[in-house]
Amino acid sequence: MIVKRAPEGIAPYLRDASNFPGGSADEVLIPETLEDLTGFLKSNTLPVTVAGAGTGLTASRIPESGRIVSLEKFDYMGGIEDGSIEVGPAVSLSALDERLSGTPYFYPPNPTEWLASVGGTLATNASGSRSYKMGVTRDHVLGAEIVLADGRRVDLRRGQTIQDPLELDDGSRIEFPPVRYRSPRCKNAAGYYVQPGMDWLDLFIGSDGTLGIFTRVRLRLSPRPAGFLSGVLFFDREEACWDLVIRLRGLGRAAIAPCSLEYFDHGSLVRLRREYENIPERARAALFFEQDVAREEEMDPCLEAWVETLEGFDVLLDDSWFAGNERDVARFHEFRHAIPMLINEENSRLGRVKIGTDFAVGDSHLAELMKLYRQVLGESGLDHVIFGHLGDNHLHINLLPGPEEVARARAVYDTLAARILEWGGTVSAEHGIGKLKKDYLAKMVGSEGLGDMQTIKRALDPAGLLGRGNLF
Ligand SMILES: Cc1cc2nc3c(=O)[nH]c(=O)nc-3n(C[C@H](O)[C@H](O)[C@H](O)COP(=O)(O)OP(=O)(O)OC[C@H]3O[C@@H](n4cnc5c(N)ncnc54)[C@H](O)[C@@H]3O)c2cc1C
Repeated sequence: MIVKRAPEGIAPYLRDASNFPGGSADEVLIPETLEDLTGFLKSNTLPVTVAGAGTGLTASRIPESGRIVSLEKFDYMGGIEDGSIEVGPAVSLSALDERLSGTPYFYPPNPTEWLASVGGTLATNASGSRSYKMGVTRDHVLGAEIVLADGRRVDLRRGQTIQDPLELDDGSRIEFPPVRYRSPRCKNAAGYYVQPGMDWLDLFIGSDGTLGIFTRVRLRLSPRPAGFLSGVLFFDREEACWDLVIRLRGLGRAAIAPCSLEYFDHGSLVRLRREYENIPERARAALFFEQDVAREEEMDPCLEAWVETLEGFDVLLDDSWFAGNERDVARFHEFRHAIPMLINEENSRLGRVKIGTDFAVGDSHLAELMKLYRQVLGESGLDHVIFGHLGDNHLHINLLPGPEEVARARAVYDTLAARILEWGGTVSAEHGIGKLKKDYLAKMVGSEGLGDMQTIKRALDPAGLLGRGNLF
């Protein structure tokens, strides 16, 4: 076990992409083996926060006190077997992608940030642009080795449901407690996932580092498509972009089956233009779309179907970009990644804590949602950008207040959250709750729902040591 106690050794682990200040820990422990980790946990009595790659946006890996456990040495990558691969939690999505290149497989969850670790993406049930069609992290996990806060270990596979107790390596058992809470059916990363008869695995996935530590994971891979048809469409009215997405979803045309529908509002384009001069001057909004195409010979007919369809909409087709090769597809992903990066950099430079939404609602509310955002943000007069997963009705609004505008920004956030909850939506569709959105989780699930989640937490971590300060 490597131990770091010097402040300069601990400091890098007190940060993530949220800019949350004020984390504190006595030491960082870096186990080199599973036995290092379980041995330590069996005698530990202090709070433990697990560190992944630190790309999280909710301060969930930033400890309030106690010890940090970093699994950075758990970077094992196994061979591909029956369309799946076993990896250690420290493996980054980019390393996994590299490992799979040249194979007939790929790993669909793509949370934009390729430095994220597999362990972190499981803990947050990360999703991304391709989740619109290909699902979230939970849909791609076949099994995991998990260590509880007290050092007991369990090997979980699909099909081990909460109807049976969790069987731990020392022969002890944990029953799933009787709770009434049920997770919403929309894309959601707020609080524990609870559905009748679900797999135990699904409870741990998305538990914000509070129920167990992933030490080994088996991921389900998907057949690699022949390619991705991809483009960035520009619009001279934001409404034209929203309308296209709503109508594309109802088209029912086999050749039009996008896996990504990602939005950029005018504020995003203004910032991106500093790096991408070829964004058309008159563009007020953009949509990055992608479609996985199974066979090479389907590529041209698919492109023709897209162009024919788009001609019927209010798109600046002559100014839009279409990928001609894999390099272009990668460049469009960089373009998509650039906007949160620009905002995160700007926040760091100005010492601004992130005030960003992760709300999602059901399909029927998309048009109302976008109008609400425009109206409330317009009236607020606050600088902001809106980008993200329009296909999933899941946009990220980043409020960018000056120092004297922070209270106003928080009030705007509250107004929007209240309406989202009235529509049965979620306050976090993919980033999780962490330490930044606890009040909103409480509003979303109510005192009874929160009480049920605390009951689940107590069943698995009675001393409340793991990820203390997250969720509750
Ligand atoms: C530019 C940018 C864009 C992003 N876009 C998206 C997006 O589109 N979709 C999305 O979902 N997210 C997005 N994110 C957020 C982030 O990438 C994800 O939340 C990611 O899953 C975090 O992984 P990490 O390894 O960095 O985890 P960390 O930030 O280190 O930790 C996150 C949580 O996971 C827990 N954890 C880490 N490892 C383990 C483990 N082995 N066992 C148990 N718990 C563990 C931590 O304790 C913490 O609670 C973005 C971030 C950035 C910076």
